Amino acid sequence: MHCDLLIEPRWLIPVVPEGVVLEDHAIAVLADQIVAIGPAATLRTQFQPKQHLRMPEQALMPGLINAHTHVAMSLMRGLADDLPLMQWLQDHIWPAEAKFVSAEFVADGVELAIAEQLRGGITAFADMYYHADVVAHTAARMGMRAVAASPIIEFPTAFAANANAYIDIAHQQALSFKDHPLVSVCFGPHAPYTVSDAAFSRIVRIAGDDQLRIYSHVHETETEVFESVQQYGVRPLQRLHKLGLLSPRFTAAHMTTLTDEEIALVVSTGMHIAHCPESNLKLASGFCPVEKLRRAGAALAFGTDGAASNNDLDMLGEMKTAALLAKAVAGDASALSAPQALSMATIGGARALGLADKIGSLEVGKQADMIALRFDELDALPVYHPISHIVYANHRRQVSDVWIAGVRRVQNGELIDVDMARIKANALMWGERIRLGAL
Ligand SMILES: [Zn+2]
Repeated sequence: MHCDLLIEPRWLIPVVPEGVVLEDHAIAVLADQIVAIGPAATLRTQFQPKQHLRMPEQALMPGLINAHTHVAMSLMRGLADDLPLMQWLQDHIWPAEAKFVSAEFVADGVELAIAEQLRGGITAFADMYYHADVVAHTAARMGMRAVAASPIIEFPTAFAANANAYIDIAHQQALSFKDHPLVSVCFGPHAPYTVSDAAFSRIVRIAGDDQLRIYSHVHETETEVFESVQQYGVRPLQRLHKLGLLSPRFTAAHMTTLTDEEIALVVSTGMHIAHCPESNLKLASGFCPVEKLRRAGAALAFGTDGAASNNDLDMLGEMKTAALLAKAVAGDASALSAPQALSMATIGGARALGLADKIGSLEVGKQADMIALRFDELDALPVYHPISHIVYANHRRQVSDVWIAGVRRVQNGELIDVDMARIKANALMWGERIRLGAL
C-alpha cells in the first residue's frame, strides 16, 4: 500500500488512551491523515512510503494545543511587568494598543508568535485579538491551525465603535472563513466586566444559529467576581449562565475563584476551561482549582495567554507549571499527574477548539498534527517514563520535528519556509516604535 510518510519513533505516545507509550511501533500518513498505527515490523511490510523516517532517540506525540492566547501581543512581550491585572491593562496595554494596533501590527505580531509556537511544538491555537481575519489569514499562510476569536467590548476603539459593530465584524469574518481546512473565526466577548447583557445575548443568539464558538475571560481575579456581585447581584459565571452562554461551544479562560456549585455548573453545561497558570501567577490573579475540576469531570485545556503577560508561548513550560501548581493548590503530590497534564495540553485543547474529531491525539482517521521530541540531551537522560519526561524534564528546544495536516513545518529543530530574518527585523522595528511612543 502506498503512503506519503512512515515514521518509526523510539516511543509513540498516542495520548488516547491516556498514559499509553508504544514501543517498536510506527505511524503511516497519507496526505493530511493518519492511515495506520501498529507494530513497526507489520507496517514496514504493509506500506511503501514516499518518505521513511527512523527516529531512534525521539518520542512522537500529537502537537501541543494552546487553548488561549493573544498572538499579536507578542510584540508587547516584556512591555510592562510585575503589575496586577487591571493596572497592567489600563495603564500600559490598552494605551499601547490604542496607539499602535493596526492590521500591519497584527500581521507582524502573529508571524512572530506562530514561528515561536511552531518551533516549540504547538500545532494549533485559540486566539482572541483585533483583526481576527489577519490572524486567520496569516496562520493559514504559515500552515498553522488556528481558531481566531474576534474581540467584543463595549468601549470604542479604532477597530469598532460599539459592541454591535464588534459583533457584526466577528460574525461577517466567521462566515467568510467557514469550511477553511485550517483556520476559523468566532466570537471573543472580552470579559463579563467589559461586555453588557445585551451584547452577550446577541452573541449567544447568532452563535447558536450558525454553530459558532465563543471565547471569553471569566473569573480571572477575585476583584472581578466581587465587582460583578456589586453591579449585577450575581457572580460572573452565574450571570453568563443566565444569559445562556455556557455550553460545549464556550471556552472560558482562567476560571480562578470557583465555588463547588460553580464547578458543578461547569461540568453540567459541558463548557471548556483554558487554564493559564503562568499568566495567573505573573499577574497574581488567583488559582484555578484544576484538580477539583478534573475530579468532577470538567473539560480542561491549557493556554499560555499572550506573551505580554507570560512572557513566552511555551506550552511545554506551561504544562510543567500547571502540573506543579495543581499539586500545591490541591496539597496533594498525586494531583494532575504527567499523563493527565499531557492529555489537557493535547486532546483537552482539541476539545476546547471544537476540533477533537480532527486533532489532539494520534489515531487512525485523524489529521497528522504530530511532533517529535529528542530525549538524547544531557538534561533528559536517562529515560524511565517518557510521558513524565515530556511534562517534567523537557525543554521546547528538544522539539525536533513538527507536522501539521501531514506537512512538515519544523525539521531537526529548524522552521521550514519561514523567513526568520524578516520576522526578527519586524519585531525589533515594532519594539523600537512602541518604546519611543511610550516615552
Ligand atoms: Zn487572555
